[in-house]
Amino acid sequence: MKVFWDQAQQAHAPEFFLQKGKVRKNFEIPARADALIDACTDMRLEIIDPPEIDLLTLRQVHTPDYLGFLRDGPRAWAALPDPGDEVVANIHPTPEMMANGARRSSTIIGQVGWYTADAACPITLETFPAAVRAAAGAIAAADEAAVGRHAYALARPPGHHAYAARAGGHCYLNNAALAAERLRMQGAARVAILDIDSHHGNGTQGIFWDRDDVFFASIHGDPNRYYPWYVGHAGERGAGAGIGCNLNMPLLQGADDEMWLAAIGSALAAITAHRVDALVISLGFDASCDEPLGFLDVSADGFARAGAAIRKLNRPCAVVQEGGYNVDVIGGLLIKFLGGLG
Ligand SMILES: [Zn+2]
Repeated sequence: MKVFWDQAQQAHAPEFFLQKGKVRKNFEIPARADALIDACTDMRLEIIDPPEIDLLTLRQVHTPDYLGFLRDGPRAWAALPDPGDEVVANIHPTPEMMANGARRSSTIIGQVGWYTADAACPITLETFPAAVRAAAGAIAAADEAAVGRHAYALARPPGHHAYAARAGGHCYLNNAALAAERLRMQGAARVAILDIDSHHGNGTQGIFWDRDDVFFASIHGDPNRYYPWYVGHAGERGAGAGIGCNLNMPLLQGADDEMWLAAIGSALAAITAHRVDALVISLGFDASCDEPLGFLDVSADGFARAGAAIRKLNRPCAVVQEGGYNVDVIGGLLIKFLGGLG
């Protein structure tokens, strides 16, 4: 199995994080990728710099104005009088403002709130180039899956909270969505994205909400009590042509291996019924019982069993890294999962 990774992704090293009114160190740190790449080396997997991609490739998922904001915003921010080191919003347009005709601002402070969902996606000059390389890895993994081989993209920064025109929750470019679009372009009639990160893949859901060619299934902590707080409920099934092509399986706090694997089993049954040609896996390790801000209670063996359950589908998988923040355990969990996937 090929692993796609570029050391240049490590230049993105955000500091800012806001939690219950306290400014804390960001959890999405370069040491996460160091731990995962060490695990890939231990598994003797082939680690490859992905081919370059251009802006047109990113525009299959993201809007041109949003991409311009990610690329150029940090420079405009740095030109403000007395700016902080990282681009972070202090205002967002509310639903009331949107209903009254709110418009994108021409200045950077207004744009940050327009293009971000929360304070958990600080942007620096290094963010966009790193996110593009992570996306390139996901696209390269999709190219492998398109010819029938599993592949793993060590995507950092991760992607599943990013919408077509909005960053959020450590995510800037939606790597899994880009991989799914690539598989469609390479000839797959139907693709499924299975998201087993402990947080709902709200960005991915938003991107494919009204489409029937990309089936999205997410297994995650109950959003009534856990990020992203507002969406991820079981009743969200898609719209228009996409009705029935969105499957959310929220789990109660403390759900263990059996509950988590039962939900994955149900999602895999729905994916089988959808007759997909290939699969994208949004692989987070934050469902682990060892996760610092954990909500679910999945063991290392649970990740091996998840990989094995997906293997039975007998479809090529582009595995795309999402969250998982305990750098002491995520390498071992990757070995477990990929071992099960085979
Ligand atoms: Zn997560």
